[in-house]
Amino acid sequence: MVLLDQALENSRNSFTNGEFIAKLSSLVRIITDSKNSVSNEELISYYSEGLLSILTELGIQTKVIDNYVENAPPFLIGERIESSELKTILLYGHGDTVPLQQGLWYEGLIPNELKIVDKKIYGRGVADNKGQHLVNLLALRSVLKTRKKLGFNLKIIFEMGEEIGSPGLFELCEKYKDYLKSDVLIASDGPRVAIDVPTVFLGSRGAINFELEAKYREGAHHSGNWGGVLRDPGVRLSHALSVIVDTDGKILIDNWKPTSLTAEVRGRLESLPNIISESLEIDESWGEPNLSPNEKLFGWNSFSVLALNSGNINVPVNAIQPSAKALCQLRFVVGTDAKKVISSLRGHLDKLGFKDIDIITENAINFEASRTDLNNIWLEKVEQILEKFHGDKIHVIPNLAGSLPNNCFTDILNIPTIWIPHSYKECSQHAPNEHLPIELLTNALLLMTDLYWNLGKSDSQK
Ligand SMILES: [Zn+2]
Repeated sequence: MVLLDQALENSRNSFTNGEFIAKLSSLVRIITDSKNSVSNEELISYYSEGLLSILTELGIQTKVIDNYVENAPPFLIGERIESSELKTILLYGHGDTVPLQQGLWYEGLIPNELKIVDKKIYGRGVADNKGQHLVNLLALRSVLKTRKKLGFNLKIIFEMGEEIGSPGLFELCEKYKDYLKSDVLIASDGPRVAIDVPTVFLGSRGAINFELEAKYREGAHHSGNWGGVLRDPGVRLSHALSVIVDTDGKILIDNWKPTSLTAEVRGRLESLPNIISESLEIDESWGEPNLSPNEKLFGWNSFSVLALNSGNINVPVNAIQPSAKALCQLRFVVGTDAKKVISSLRGHLDKLGFKDIDIITENAINFEASRTDLNNIWLEKVEQILEKFHGDKIHVIPNLAGSLPNNCFTDILNIPTIWIPHSYKECSQHAPNEHLPIELLTNALLLMTDLYWNLGKSDSQK
């Protein structure tokens, strides 16, 4: 145990001597907004200027791989092989961020300049995902420095396009399947269920975006001269939406409901705290009746209208509008036949008299749903180690409520996926004032140091 204590001390020191903050600050300073793409060259300077020094310290051989999707940013992959007899852990992270939203942050904060206020570290990418993968890399380094080995083999994938849907990640995993061959993915993204309890999630919900449109004619027509004899697209579209979900958000299309809310999944969800958030009250009566909030969030599907438009609400005119449009989304868990989502919707609308409502699916951002089995041996191992470190039960959720390109790992590389998030719900991810408390990051770094240490084999154990 003395050696493990040394590794933990090493990790703790990177906070007390300022190294962690300095390193995170240098990562945040590299602007990596993939949406408003600065060029790919600028994006991948994150690899050379941001990550390379730590990866070299970790003895990882890296290579930059051009993206198979045209104009999409290259990937960074790499490996450290200690022995063919050891297990191999795959680490994934993304260096890109959502837009900076300069000017919308609290006064005195500049998104790409790290700043600590009230023991919280502010900066774009601190929570999503720069701070999270930095924790994992420095934890690995503490283990390596102390043990002189990791005690397992390590493979890495970094990308700079996660916030634009991970273009080419699927193809990368296909083409480099042998190179990336591993026993398990252990990675970090998203928030913990509760800030002070380690969380593990095993996959993510999927998402399908589509538009519904009622388009009847060109141009608007005076509502005095034509009102009463022309079909109103806004009214028709509203009625179409009302047959997709009821007045309380319950989904009304049978094929849109998952078959995966088993007793086992329910059991896991039951042990989570009932309070979803301290800062935002949820609407208890919204969604599928008879499900708990956690079941609705992690074990069920949800439909939302992301944007709705007919006419111009800022400059209204007395006219029957020619068209109305809604941008809609279904978030779904495994056990939903994603391929049938759109055809089922078409059948449902047709049957109920809405043949005039078009479904437009191009430009849809689609994520598949995926989930590693709750009985997986790696979950058992990781859960045991984390619980021992934490001194109590941890939170295990079958999947994140949000979406991640997790199916690349589960379906192509065929490995179990264990996600250990280092953020919390109030981190303002994807919004101004993104931040993480220093205490959470410190705890996460110690937790991961302990985990990697215990997953690795020391020479005496071989
Ligand atoms: Zn994100």
